[in-house]
Amino acid sequence: MRSLSLAPLALVLACAVAPVPPALAQDKGSVDPKPLPPLAHPEDPKTPAKQLFGRVRTPTTGKAEVIGFYAKGCLAGAIALPVNGPAWQVMRLSRNRNWGHPVLVDTLETLALRAQKAGWPGLLVGDMSQPRGGPMITGHASHQVGLDADIWLTPMPDRELTRREREETSATMVVAKSREDVDPRVWTPGHFAVISTAAKLPNVERIFVNAAIKKALCREAGSDRAWLHKVRPYWGHDYHFHIRLKCPPGETLCKSQPPPPADEGCGKALAWWFRDSVLHPRPPKPPTTPPKVKPKPRPQLTLAGLPPACRAVLAAP
Ligand SMILES: [Zn+2]
Repeated sequence: MRSLSLAPLALVLACAVAPVPPALAQDKGSVDPKPLPPLAHPEDPKTPAKQLFGRVRTPTTGKAEVIGFYAKGCLAGAIALPVNGPAWQVMRLSRNRNWGHPVLVDTLETLALRAQKAGWPGLLVGDMSQPRGGPMITGHASHQVGLDADIWLTPMPDRELTRREREETSATMVVAKSREDVDPRVWTPGHFAVISTAAKLPNVERIFVNAAIKKALCREAGSDRAWLHKVRPYWGHDYHFHIRLKCPPGETLCKSQPPPPADEGCGKALAWWFRDSVLHPRPPKPPTTPPKVKPKPRPQLTLAGLPPACRAVLAAP
């Protein structure tokens, strides 16, 4: 993403992840997913770690532990968020990404019930983590340690969705075509309720939303604004919002991220996102002469690039 280089330094540090194509809540799944073919040489040290973690279907048993950083790590002892709950339903079951640290599962269950009381019908839960965390073959740079979750900006219907609906229904775009604000025909007080309720949970450290959504939250927050600083504008995040938890207390292998700035972030920092050059970045000029050497593809994260303890997580029965 070219325009990331223009971002204020604080923002880059806050996100601390390499820009990758966003995970799209509107990407469809399949009710009959084909298993990935086995790797010919999984022991080859050059094998991308996502190809290894992306093939594991089950978590490790035993104590839950976060290993590493949101965008470079893995997870032991994950548990699954049940696909149906009193106030949530899991989407895209074919992806098998409804795994997380028990504190994440607990937080989502709490949020679902509180958000319902606050006026949101219930959560449609998108990607959390893989059974052993780690990098993913498609989508996110983060979501590797079981502390991140995507929540759709579509209100949950008051019936159980079918398997097919969970794979094929699209999430709801809440940002207006102009990208300057939310779409008033789509945005509701319930959207405000679910995001603000999430931000008020003590172990939620950050929430990523589109800048247009942050603008709406700043406008609608009234005098109760102490949670706003946790809600961070980011590219994409116009069909879903992303919840990130703090490292669970006492987990020394979990690499924490500096807390977000205390400022509520409704002023200058937010205005940056609505500059013409950011909203409508100019396409790169085509080169006048063809480049002599092809640009090298970005090196893939391998097992050697992950914390050493992730080898044992991957190898465990
Ligand atoms: Zn996410």
